[in-house]
Amino acid sequence: MKDLNLLEKNLRKSNRHLLGKIIYALETFLLPPIYRTAEVITAVTGLVLLGLPLLFGMAVRKLFTGNKIFFREILIGMGGQPIVVNFFNLGWKPAASLALLYSIVKGDLTFVGGSLISYEQTELKPENNYLRKLKPGLFSLWGLRSNIKIGHEGRHETEWEYCFTKKHSADAFIALRSIPAYIIGGAEGQTQTSVAIFDIAFENMTMQEAVTRIEADLDSGNAASTVFYVNADCLNKCYEDEDYRSLLKNADYILPDGIGINIACRMLGSGLKENVNGTDMLPYMCTMAKRRGFKIFLLGGKPGVADKVAAKITESYEVQVAGVQHGYFDHQKESGEVVDLINKSGADILLVAFGAPLQEKWITAHKSQLEVGAAFGVGGLFDFYSGNTLRAPRWLRELGLEWVYRMIQEPGRMWRRYIVGNPLFIFRVMTWRTQNNSNQGE
Ligand code: UDP
Repeated sequence: MKDLNLLEKNLRKSNRHLLGKIIYALETFLLPPIYRTAEVITAVTGLVLLGLPLLFGMAVRKLFTGNKIFFREILIGMGGQPIVVNFFNLGWKPAASLALLYSIVKGDLTFVGGSLISYEQTELKPENNYLRKLKPGLFSLWGLRSNIKIGHEGRHETEWEYCFTKKHSADAFIALRSIPAYIIGGAEGQTQTSVAIFDIAFENMTMQEAVTRIEADLDSGNAASTVFYVNADCLNKCYEDEDYRSLLKNADYILPDGIGINIACRMLGSGLKENVNGTDMLPYMCTMAKRRGFKIFLLGGKPGVADKVAAKITESYEVQVAGVQHGYFDHQKESGEVVDLINKSGADILLVAFGAPLQEKWITAHKSQLEVGAAFGVGGLFDFYSGNTLRAPRWLRELGLEWVYRMIQEPGRMWRRYIVGNPLFIFRVMTWRTQNNSNQGE
């Protein structure tokens, strides 16, 4: 749960300065009527240009098929009051939602607000009272993040964040970011529990579900579970590297990382539950490790990098770091000593950051000697956490453009991975899908 006091403190701090006061006054008094006027003009224009022709088409369809034009839903409105909204009775959500423009003109909905929550299916608990402050919106921060699959904090936390950081000036950008997010990840069909790309099946689960499963594995006391994240680049590599492909097939957990996988899932007709990458997962792992008293060993990165990460996670999550070791030892000759170091440290969780597929190969080769409960291949995670590499800001990740930020920082190393790799990956998924479909048809 985010710290309400901290947010309010920051808000007060920014309002202490003259500029803060001016922005606050603009936000509070000037922008709302301007925003509302713009909203009504846009909604009426949308209704006239798109809604009316669609209504006419739906009326003709009703004449011939008897199908209803609208379906209604009762949602939680401003102040927790029920509001009745109509959708066009169509399967394609963007078209169905056009009818909501009428509710915007009426003032029941807004373009950007809280997410649409069913009045009948949701009990507004006292701790969710803040939701009463929000007018539901055609677009919402939760809708945006859940469509792009980075809503790791969950609906409640995200709505809460929106409620207490809401600014009219930022709303327009949420609406803009929602459009690609919706096209890439929204309105998918069924969500399968496991999805295969190039015959590599990955677990389709949320970050929280993944952590819970790994916690159970750690409890079981069995041999180390191997946890590997795959992104478009990893799948491109495994397309050409037989050893990598085979070890991925035998891993305990393959978790989906990045926008490329999200798009591929959409192409394969399954919704991705969440983008479960190592960098976003670390806080959840550390919280679990702290709660359960599990110790973490950090292996990889340039000398000094893992030490910085150790200091940071010890301070932020009060987790026990069993030991650190940089990744530039002689992997042929000195791996035995490194395994001994890890085993002697008493670590339960091992994070290996050598980059893919080196880390996956190392973990697989030493799995039988390692006495940890779970070994993760975490790629550039230590560079992000130590601050050596900057992570893309949240708004860029919400646009699915984290890779652009990475490429700008390391163009020499990354251009081939993304500029060549991304289209190549999409092409390969298309080809693989066609082959797969024709094999199933035979
Ligand atoms: N690295 C390492 N030992 C090596 C080669 C690489 O520890 O022999 C580290 C390197 O310092 C970097 C990480 O592995 O921190 C690779 O990061 P990259 O961003 O390339 O990984 P990706 O996330 O792309 O798999």
